[in-house]
Amino acid sequence: MLTAIVGTNWGDEGKGRMVDLLSEKYAVVVRYQGGNNAGHTVVNERGKFIMNLLPSGILRDDTVNVLGPGIVIDLEHLFNEVARLRDSGIAITPDHLKISDRATICMPYHKLLDGLEEDRLGDKKFGSTRRGISPVYADKYMKKTLRMGDLRHLDELYPRLDGIVEWKNLTVERGYGHEPIRTADMMAWLKKFGLPFVDYVCDTTEYLSGAIDGGKSVLFEAQLGALRDIDFGIYPYTSASTTLAAYAPIGAGVPQYRLDESIGIMKAYSSCVGEGPFTCELFGPEGDALREAGGEYGAATGRPRRVGGFDVVASRYGAKMQGCTYVALTKLDVLSYLEQIPVCAHYEVDGKVVDCFPVGGALDRAKPVYEYLPGFRCDISKCRRPEELPRAALEYIRYLEKQVGCPVKYVSVGAQREDIIEMF
Ligand code: GDP
Ligand code: MG
Repeated sequence: MLTAIVGTNWGDEGKGRMVDLLSEKYAVVVRYQGGNNAGHTVVNERGKFIMNLLPSGILRDDTVNVLGPGIVIDLEHLFNEVARLRDSGIAITPDHLKISDRATICMPYHKLLDGLEEDRLGDKKFGSTRRGISPVYADKYMKKTLRMGDLRHLDELYPRLDGIVEWKNLTVERGYGHEPIRTADMMAWLKKFGLPFVDYVCDTTEYLSGAIDGGKSVLFEAQLGALRDIDFGIYPYTSASTTLAAYAPIGAGVPQYRLDESIGIMKAYSSCVGEGPFTCELFGPEGDALREAGGEYGAATGRPRRVGGFDVVASRYGAKMQGCTYVALTKLDVLSYLEQIPVCAHYEVDGKVVDCFPVGGALDRAKPVYEYLPGFRCDISKCRRPEELPRAALEYIRYLEKQVGCPVKYVSVGAQREDIIEMF
């Protein structure tokens, strides 16, 4: 069984907690795109964990975790994330963490350039997480990055790295007027934070192909959501990578296989971190109440998230782009306080009602058309079976299924692993 777990919206739908829950049924969990700009929160019997780079399956001792060729790795961040998890009693060994020799290394100058550019943009900023993700993907396509496999021959790397640093300083020093990067510093950084991972680096394509041919099940864990995809998202307010399920086999290093399932993680309302069009956004006391109820503050950055009601237009598009087999609807418990549940049922663009997710200027001009559904106004966090849910909650779920055109298989009603209802 090859399954992708993906976001249908702007990210932070609760992918981490669903991977934590479902990974029990899978032998291997793979991260296939993005970098440490992700923030996946998992709460289970071992505590509360925030993973940026490591697959959420790392919390299970018998799950093998893979960082695929499609991702970018800030070694210093990985070093610290591993140390943090080890401090909490999580064992991390080359037996259950495998890093692709083709994965790209995110260098300190990528982070530096990300910050320099956001600062230069001032109030026109994109809302980057400043973790170097766009600069490192840009360099990947310029074919001027180092890859994890290069750590095996660090001593031979100096001339190539020196050439890259010389090229980077054209921007860092001559462009932004920042003090230049030094090759020796970069070598020291690679040694300090990279060498501890040499034993984890391997040909993950070989490993995964063998595992799949041997009948092992694999879960592909996405970061961010469909609307942050570089091609199909709200460009330019997207991430630099492909967040779609279709990319999972490629980014994971096994392009010869096809997915059996794509599980779309969809939140019962909307949230969005950073800048860009977010048509369904609620402001004032209505927005503040939803943000507080949902605890919508970024796991990676602590930034308050923008919030809105469930966005039918965006979610239908997201579920389509993700090719969802079915949906896991998360955080339904958060809506318990509402008398009436706000839903952005359509958009209005230039005076016309629109149900197809717009692009470019039309998306910028889109206004939400809100409708209200009956609230359930009771604590549903203890419900474990569909028949225990109040009627209004079931009707809300049925409404979303119909609008999005995809069945809801799971409903989560709390952050803990067991706070879940299986609908069929
Ligand atoms: P991800 O990036 O998609 O993995 O999602 P995040 O971890 O950034 O955001 C989801 C947040 O919602 C985390 O703080 C979770 O602990 C929390 N969460 C997940 N599922 C539920 C749920 O069903 N109910 C509530 N109240 N919180 C949840
Ligand atoms: Mg997140």
